[in-house]
Amino acid sequence: MVNFVGAEVERLSGLSPRWLVFPAPLEDRFEANISPRRCKRFWWEGLLAICIFDAFLLADYLGRPEHFWRSVIVRLGVMTPIALAVDFSMLRKPGKVFREASFAGMLAFAALSQLYLDSNQNIVASAYAQTALVAVIVFANTSIRLQFPYALVASMAIMLGDIVFLFQDAFLTHDQKLFGFGLTFATTCVTMLANYSANREERLNFLLYLRGDVLIQDLKVANLELSQMAESDGLTGLANRHFFDSRFEELWETAVADGTAFSIVMVDVDHFKHMNDTYGHLSGDRVLKRIARLITEALRMTGDFAARFGGEEFVLLLPSTHQVAALQVAERIRKLVEVAGFPPLDASRIPLQREITATVSCGVATAHPVAGEDRRHLLDAADKALYQAKTDGRNRVCFAS
Ligand code: GH3
Ligand code: MG
Ligand code: MG
Repeated sequence: MVNFVGAEVERLSGLSPRWLVFPAPLEDRFEANISPRRCKRFWWEGLLAICIFDAFLLADYLGRPEHFWRSVIVRLGVMTPIALAVDFSMLRKPGKVFREASFAGMLAFAALSQLYLDSNQNIVASAYAQTALVAVIVFANTSIRLQFPYALVASMAIMLGDIVFLFQDAFLTHDQKLFGFGLTFATTCVTMLANYSANREERLNFLLYLRGDVLIQDLKVANLELSQMAESDGLTGLANRHFFDSRFEELWETAVADGTAFSIVMVDVDHFKHMNDTYGHLSGDRVLKRIARLITEALRMTGDFAARFGGEEFVLLLPSTHQVAALQVAERIRKLVEVAGFPPLDASRIPLQREITATVSCGVATAHPVAGEDRRHLLDAADKALYQAKTDGRNRVCFAS
């Protein structure tokens, strides 16, 4: 994504003319980013423009009172309701095409209705009609800053209207008409240039903002991955020994504060060395992964915590868990491993006459932690119970009395 945005920054930051369109997904993101502010701005500026447009009623009244009612009908009866409808629609945050096209159309329509009101009245009206057009063009291209293609179409429509107006005008001389159109044309060119620069600048600013944002997001993801890597065991995905130590301390302190029981289960794979020697270390690794998954499935309480203690040993921390429940958890794991057996192995390495199974032995210990008590005693007790399970014949659960 950073490279993608970088290429667009490169494309737009030079001086040569460029299309103001991003590739599809980026364009959508740009639109989503600018749309709320743009709709709000259109709404306010549109309202202001309507007020200014209608304020010209006073000039119409003073300048040509004989046509005042025509002005009232065009300004208040036709133009204002249309403009208000378009303006109010901005509050509903419409899509880009409607937003830009409706405003472009509304502004072009306002300019043309002004031309209609001024046409063939007197020489002053004909001359000032050009100034009114200039005002609308400046407003559309640099104040509202319609997106470039829409600004271009609106400006062309206004210029076409001006050409028609000047052709059928009976008051201006040929030179005056030429000068009037020159003014409209020059204003259109200059403001279109300003419009292009402003739109290009807005896009560039968006890209720079996005590049910073994407970098921050990437950093966050990398940080998360790093902290997960630092806390988890690479082979089984369970918590590693380091994370176990800090979690043990944390849960122990909570149990001391809450005065609740705390249990530990140590799980050790039986005859794992032999399994490794017979089927190879890679197969041994697959057994460890499989058992880790079964342990995760066996843990039902959300507060329970499982870690790889080292080698082929796993440890479970069971907060707020008494002896009976802890023994049930250990027994569940033992049974799951026994039933799930061994993952499929490389057939060439399996002697056909032998049934291949993996089993685990578990040592369980429970305490009611009190302040000042060394939590490692509980771990020792679970380890001793595990040793007992081994000496009693393996594939069993023992409790530290
Ligand atoms: P017991 O039933 O008494 O637990 O016997 P055991 O063979 O399982 O115990 P022992 O401690 O003698 O052997 C543990 C073996 O676990 C030795 C070591 O090679 C193997 N081991 C430790 N870590 C890994 C590992 O990450 N992958 C594999 N494949 N083997 C491992
Ligand atoms: Mg061991
Ligand atoms: Mg073992």
